[in-house]
Order: sequence, then C-alpha cells, then structure tokens
Amino acid sequence: MNTDKFTNVLTPAEVLVAEGFWKNKMELARTKVIPYEWEALNDRIEGATSSHSIMNFIIAGELTEKRKTGNAVSTSDKDFQGMVFQDSDTAKWLEAAANILMWHKDNELEALIDQVIDIICAAQQPDGYLNTYYIINGLDKRFTNLRDNHELYCLGHMLEAAVAYYQATKKRKLLDAMIHYVELVDRLFGPEPEKAKGYPGHEVIEMALIKLYRITKDERHVKLAKYFIDQRGQSPNYFEEEAVTYGNGTLWNDTYFKMGYFQAHKPVREQDTAIGHAVRAMYLYCGMADVAKETKDESLLLACQNIWNNITEKQMYITGSVGSSSTGESFSFDYDLPNQTAYAETCAAIGLVFFAQRMLLMEPDSRYADIMEKTLFNGIISGISLDGTRFFYLNPLESVPESCEKDEKCQRTDATRQKWFGVACCPPNIARLLSSVGSYIYTVKEQAVYQHLFIGSTIQHMINGEAVRIETSTNYPWDGKVKIKIVTKNPVEFQYAVRIPGWCKNYKLSLNKETVKQPVIEKGYACISRTWQDDNIIELDFSMPVVIMKSNSNVRENTGKCAVMRGPLVYCLEEEDNGGNLHCITMDINGTYQSVWEPRTLDGVTAVYSKGRKTISNRNELYMEADAEKTETIALKWIPYYAWANRSVGEMAVWIRT
Ligand SMILES: [Zn+2]
Repeated sequence: MNTDKFTNVLTPAEVLVAEGFWKNKMELARTKVIPYEWEALNDRIEGATSSHSIMNFIIAGELTEKRKTGNAVSTSDKDFQGMVFQDSDTAKWLEAAANILMWHKDNELEALIDQVIDIICAAQQPDGYLNTYYIINGLDKRFTNLRDNHELYCLGHMLEAAVAYYQATKKRKLLDAMIHYVELVDRLFGPEPEKAKGYPGHEVIEMALIKLYRITKDERHVKLAKYFIDQRGQSPNYFEEEAVTYGNGTLWNDTYFKMGYFQAHKPVREQDTAIGHAVRAMYLYCGMADVAKETKDESLLLACQNIWNNITEKQMYITGSVGSSSTGESFSFDYDLPNQTAYAETCAAIGLVFFAQRMLLMEPDSRYADIMEKTLFNGIISGISLDGTRFFYLNPLESVPESCEKDEKCQRTDATRQKWFGVACCPPNIARLLSSVGSYIYTVKEQAVYQHLFIGSTIQHMINGEAVRIETSTNYPWDGKVKIKIVTKNPVEFQYAVRIPGWCKNYKLSLNKETVKQPVIEKGYACISRTWQDDNIIELDFSMPVVIMKSNSNVRENTGKCAVMRGPLVYCLEEEDNGGNLHCITMDINGTYQSVWEPRTLDGVTAVYSKGRKTISNRNELYMEADAEKTETIALKWIPYYAWANRSVGEMAVWIRT
C-alpha cells in the first residue's frame, strides 16, 4: 500500500469555504446551531428534553474538589442525570465550536470554550480519569462494563474535541488533560500480560487516537488504537468474560446479534458484512481505516474495502443513510431497506461520510466520493431543520404522521424534527460535521491534488515545493457548472484530478477555454497532469437532468417504485404540495420532469414538476373488483428530500409507484 505520500485530512482551517450551499450550512452551524445547542446542553430550551450534560461536569468537578480538599459541595443539584454517555454531547459540541474557530475568529466563543474546558478539567481525577457518570456515581465501578457504559466512547469524543481545539487555537489545556487520561487507559489495557484485554463497547476512541497520534507522533497512541482494533472479537471474548466477572448480564445474547451487535463476534479482519449497531459499526470501520493507513496494514484495508462494498452495494438507502432497523439501531440484512420504518440514524450517515473520507485518503476512487457527496446532501442534512434548531434522529424515506403516533413499528420515527433528545447524539454530531465540511473537499499528496466535492472554496497548499492556490466557484448542486482557478507564481508540475460524479452521464471539461476532448479518467477522476504557472482555469459543466432511479430487484420494499434524483439530490413528494395519501400516486417514468429554481421555496431549492396519476377513492367498500379503481391525472411537485418536514406536518415519500 502506497499511502505514505498522502497528507492527512486538510483541517477546516486549511480550506476556506467561501460561498454557496455549504457556506450557508456552515454559517447556519455558526450562528444558529452552536448557540442553540449550548442552550440545550444547559437545559435552557423551553419544552426540550433535559440534557444536564454541562451540569454533570459541574457536579463532578465539585465532587473532585471536595475529595481533594474536604470542602463541601455547593451545587444544590448533586445527581448525575442522563445517559451514561451524556459527556459525549458536550464533547461533540466543543469539537463543533472549535471547528468554527478554525474559519471564523470569535473571541466570545473562544472564551466560552475556555470556560467549558475549565469546567471539564476540574472534574479530572489525579490519575487522569474523567467521566462524570462514574465520578458522581462511584469510581470503584469504573472500567467494569466497557461493553455498555461508554467510558472509552466518551474519552474518544473528548479527545477529538481536544485535538480540534488545539488545531484551532494551539491551546493545550484540554489536549494535555486528555493525553493524561489516555495514559491511564494505556496502562490498563493492552497486549501485555498485566493489562486487561478490553476494548470499547461503542467505538470511536480508535479514530480519536489516530487524530491524536497525527499531532503528537507518539507511537503509544497509534499502538493503543491498533490494539483496540486487533483485540475486538478475539477469543475468549472480553465482553463475555467481563459480564461474568462484574455481573453485567447478557445484553443482546438472546437475539441473533449476540456479540455482532458490538462488531465483536469475530476478529475485524474476518468481517466482511456490516453488522450490529450502525453508529458503532461505522466508527469501527473508520478506526480500522485510520489504523490501516497509519500502519500500512493491507489486511485491514482489505477488510475495510469488503465492508464498504457490503454497505454501499447492499445495505444503504438511496439517501446514503445506513442502519435500517430500529432493533438495536442496527444494520439488519442485505437489501432490507424499509422506507417508513427506516431507522437511518443521522449519526450513522455521518459515520459513512467519515468512512468515505478515510478510504479516499488511501485510494482516490470516486466510488467513495460519490457516496460521501450523496450522504452529505441527503441522509445527513435531512437530520436538521432549515432554521438549524430542530433535529431528526431517524431519517425515514416515507412518513405518515398518524403511523408515527399510533403504529408501534413507526413509533420511534418522528413526523417533525425535535428540539432535543434524551439520547442526543445526533444534534451535536451534525454540528461538528457542518462546521468542518471544507475538510472533505480535497485530498492532497506530494504531486497530485484530488478534488472530491464541488464547494465554493479556496485552499492554499504547498505542492511539489510551490505555494498553489485553488479557488472553486459554483452554484452546485442547483446547477452543474464548476469553475476552478489554479494559481501559482513559479512553474510547478502536478496532477489535478477532479471527480466526475457517478450520477453524471454528460459533461464538458475545458482548460483555459480549450475543450479537453478526451480527458484521462482514472478511477472516476479526470486527471490533468502538466506544469502549472500563473492563472489557469478549469471549467466543468455537468449536465444535470432529472433522473428516474430504481432499486435492485432484491429490495422488496421498492418493487414497482421509482425515485427522482437530480444531480446529487434525492427528491421526495410531500403532502404540502401533493395532498395526502401519497401511496395513491403513480409517477410516469417516461413523462416530462421540469426543474425550476425557486428562491423562496425552502430557503431556495430547485423543485421538480411532473405529471402523475392518483387513485380516486370515492368508494366505501374496503375491497372491490380490480377494474373498479379509477385514477385522475395530477400535477406533482418534488422537493429535495433533505428539506422535507420544514413546512406543515404531513406525509412524505421518496419511492413512488410507477
Ligand atoms: Zn445519533
């Protein structure tokens, strides 16, 4: 594997997103999401589910102080509240806020983050331990239930926050505190005989340790990540032994998952199918890819490729969402992709984007970038309202509000986005994704630049020893025109590789106004190798017609149905535009589909108009002879899926009968 020439991910600081669709989302994160979520973490949103996450840190800090000094605790609130992983909500918010500081100077926000870091670090134990659930409820039980109690998960998220804040400000307080905690974990877990053979029940620390390693270059950090990856699923199974030793019960053992729920049913190199809790799974695969890259581990890369193929060829929604089953928030089985009961957690889709980015760092292949783009535009941003203050945890592809209320199978899905959740992993996760979206546009190696996404942005990067500036301007995804300006002072030779999207059948490519008739295409990228000097303009014009999509025939749910896409966007019908009973509608796959830019619809979208037919239900019988059914022609209006549920409460459907 020749991965050593690749740089690491560009940080949000290195890519200045300047304009367009994603700049608007980043500004939404900065001006709406971050302030709103701060209020939520402090329980100041009226009518929202309580978080208590910040208060848990305050209480833990006071208890820590009391244990050191004997002074009384002043906080009247003395209980840990929320889930065992409540700390991670604050951690993800911190990471998102730190990302914002990388592209927008904000002294007030920085001062607030410093305050939060002081609160967090006050709770740290002398040996480095830092988890409010156990600090408040009893340290004697710490590390006795790695399977269920998320200590290493919370550490992983706080570590990612610490790395981001260090990258944003070079301030080390949180980073040093987390390194101290990692040293404790490193003393307790590992291959050496005196150490326990544990690993996290909920992955994330693996990729966090690699982020840390890329800053510290401390081999212990990559070794610990590799240990957690290698040890998972080995026999004897740590979780089974731990359950007996500490009386943790047999969670999931009476289901078909068993240890597969935790991806711990066999060693990771033997896994080729995505299984179990989808967010855990995605974070594991990210950690595997990170370790594969850093240790040049071919067998681990192969496992990543196999799992990637399984997910994207057999277990992924057209929106890029993954994890179709509400039982265990999990992957279920190949081609099982129900629409109305889709679990499709926002965090799992975010995990797929992380995974795609990591695969791109090892292999520039547009199949990864195609999925990354699809998931960003559809399955992720469907999880947040256009005003940035309401959230979906689940992202179904069909919704009937009455079912959400009364049908047990649908009761975990919401017909409207929520203010907050008891399990609030998704809202701060989407905040950290939106605030760092610039870092997904490029990967750069010694003599090549790969552009994966089309986002109005500028990077300045040393390539082959020369400073090169690359500016992209585009109105993507609303049209397919992309202009890329490459500026260097001195001549420099490198390859510019720009992704030709998988959805695009016709495009024009020109360099300095001259059409490139037969561009060299390598793994989905048009590659221009030359000596660059002064100003150069690459222009792309991707033809972006409306395309009617169908599923593989193995997807039972979508038999006889089609969906509408335009460019990277998946479309849906909503009751607001098309009346109720969307199941009575049939679309005409040979009809005319007209796209219209509507600046005042849903903050500005290209809507699609077509004709369809709708069954007229004017009979009282429940059953009747088939030829009794009558239909009428109706006008259909399609909107981008991500924007559904931003107007009235009503039905929505992506897959429509043909
Ligand atoms: Zn989530």
